[in-house]
Amino acid sequence: MNLVIFGPPGSGKGTQAKILQEKHGWPQLSTGDMLRAAIAAGTELGKKCKAIMDSGELVPDDVVIGIISERYDQPDCEKGAIFDGFPRTIPQARALDQMLKLRNKKIDLVIELKVDDKVLIERVKTRIAQSGGVARADDTPETLQNRLAVYYQNTAPLLEYYKRQGKLSTVDGMAPIEEVTKAIAEVIDQAGRKGCLGVGG
Ligand code: ADP
Repeated sequence: MNLVIFGPPGSGKGTQAKILQEKHGWPQLSTGDMLRAAIAAGTELGKKCKAIMDSGELVPDDVVIGIISERYDQPDCEKGAIFDGFPRTIPQARALDQMLKLRNKKIDLVIELKVDDKVLIERVKTRIAQSGGVARADDTPETLQNRLAVYYQNTAPLLEYYKRQGKLSTVDGMAPIEEVTKAIAEVIDQAGRKGCLGVGG
């Protein structure tokens, strides 16, 4: 199945995507990780994106759409994938739908992790404290404020987009990790029972 794991920065998308990857074998496609890898490797793409990412703004749609399509065509995505941090804008969501359609696939499910802003800010503070000074360049309380603003402005409208498609499920992202994992598993099971995952999904 093809699944979008959705939520504001610090909501635990990456943590849950990794758990799902382990459990089901669907690779976690994180555009944030891919972009950070490009920066670490010193590629042209990385150089173009570094300042944008450090400020908490979004890199251009065509850049992330390009890297995600390339990645999705790798053989390990044949049975599906978990989209983490993508799509983040309506044009990205439309491009994703189109990309999948061309391959006779679709997004089966979108799982939103709902977390209050206050909790997100506390989580990032903890992440910085625990990192011993080697935190991500965009993991500062100031940049987080901007990332949250960007999320509400550009990304949150996608909730309506997917709701209209009947694909959205929301889980409480403030529960302990294992409980969030359990709630996600229930959503996936339920979708499977309803038959929206297709044969062998
Ligand atoms: P978080 O989930 O903590 O917000 P990510 O690792 O998903 O962090 O993304 C980090 C940064 O990478 C974003 O703030 C943005 O600059 C860039 N980025 C990642 N994915 C996208 C995307 N789909 N569209 C535009 N920019 C993106």
